[in-house]
Amino acid sequence: MLEDNVDELALLRLRLHSTRYDSTSFGLTLAPTMDCNFRCVYCYESKVIHHTYMSVEVQEAVVKLLEERAKHIRNFSVTWYGGEPLLAFEIILRLSKRFIEICEKNDITYTAGIITNGYLLTREKAEMLAAAKVTFYQITIDGTRESHDASRPLKNGAGTYDKIFDNLVQCADLLTNVSMRVNVGHNNVQAVDSIFEKLEESGLSDHVVPYLGKITNDNGDPELESICFTTSEFAKLDLEYTFSHSSHLDWFGKYPTLKGNYCGADCYQAMVIDPDGFIYRCWNEIGNHSYAVANLLRSTPDNLSLYFDYMLFDPTTDPQCSHCDVLPLCMGGCPYYRVHDRQENLCSVYRTELQEYLIAVAHKLLEEKKSAGCSD
Ligand code: SF4
Ligand code: SF4
Repeated sequence: MLEDNVDELALLRLRLHSTRYDSTSFGLTLAPTMDCNFRCVYCYESKVIHHTYMSVEVQEAVVKLLEERAKHIRNFSVTWYGGEPLLAFEIILRLSKRFIEICEKNDITYTAGIITNGYLLTREKAEMLAAAKVTFYQITIDGTRESHDASRPLKNGAGTYDKIFDNLVQCADLLTNVSMRVNVGHNNVQAVDSIFEKLEESGLSDHVVPYLGKITNDNGDPELESICFTTSEFAKLDLEYTFSHSSHLDWFGKYPTLKGNYCGADCYQAMVIDPDGFIYRCWNEIGNHSYAVANLLRSTPDNLSLYFDYMLFDPTTDPQCSHCDVLPLCMGGCPYYRVHDRQENLCSVYRTELQEYLIAVAHKLLEEKKSAGCSD
């Protein structure tokens, strides 16, 4: 709520710039390899998956990047990404050791997470990752065994569902913060319920928090297009699932919060780096060198105009966003889709479903208060 004489757009602009150019934190998304043992049907990296691993020269350049910033930052975070990052396990361990040393020496808080398909996550690896301070995991399971194995097979076509669940069970006590992405489209939506049963039955429901992900057609595949939900269809489904399975899902996370900038893609102190040292704004572009804005091994920038497109967009001056009721919750939508002119995926789910999300969260809070015996 603001006084009438406050210029709300100016306030949002100020917050946008202060978070976008905040220099106290530094975040890297690092792909130690572009290789992958899976061949998912909707993989947006399908054209760039290949047998490349990060050379020692690039690894040293990444370390140097952190050393140069170490005196000025208070927080450093890494997301291990790929391809499948666990195929480059030794590189993860080697770099983590260097990062931890630099952070300890400079009194910087270090956090790390990994986006992995989970197939290679043995207990031994999970122990070593814990020692390397990797605490957050994102793993994808697409519904039932049948629907998952059809959409996320190994390179040779074999299924992966059982192995991933076996790994999760073996490592359960080591993995305390796991997000399970469940990709949904028209083809597998009826299979989503089975995830909750499977998590219960495997004793994983306390450690693993599933959430629905929207399948997007990033490679222009006509077959895939037919199974994709629109943003508004997806928002309705997300609401229905989140609140009908609220004991498993992070329903309170659906309560909208104010955003400064949108995400790492339009944040000055965040970078995505591939195994060849190419630097991108968004991980959707990884491996496609024509979208790289620079390379760690070269001193000149590659694609300044793309960099400016990401970094200089200001939703408070955009004709549509500046008049949008949910601008403070969205701040201009996904920069990747904006830059690549994919308007259909741009807007926040709150644009069409804000009221429904608020009502659902309020009902749930009241329900919890009642069951805790609170009468007022
Ligand atoms: S696991 Fe990830 S990188 Fe590998 S094929 Fe599947 S979506 Fe692509
Ligand atoms: S919901 Fe759409 S119009 Fe509104 S701020 Fe986000 S991108 Fe802009």
